[in-house]
Amino acid sequence: MSATDHHDCFAKVDAMLAERNTRLTFPIVFSEDMQRKPMIVTEQIETGRGKKKAVGMFASFCPFCGASLAKAMGDAA
Ligand SMILES: [Zn+2]
Repeated sequence: MSATDHHDCFAKVDAMLAERNTRLTFPIVFSEDMQRKPMIVTEQIETGRGKKKAVGMFASFCPFCGASLAKAMGDAA
């Protein structure tokens, strides 16, 4: 996995956490607008027949530095 593949903070934080035998569990996926964004893990409140499926949520801003991820995609800065 390349560090420039997505917003740099995730790679940096993952590298720091690795020293403590830890890693992030943010899945980085393509959202509907075809941009790579960290997916917020959600779950259904009620399960069973007829209940709506849980929807996926995406972070618009980096949780570490607050940069807009929509804008950050494409440039490695
Ligand atoms: Zn960031």
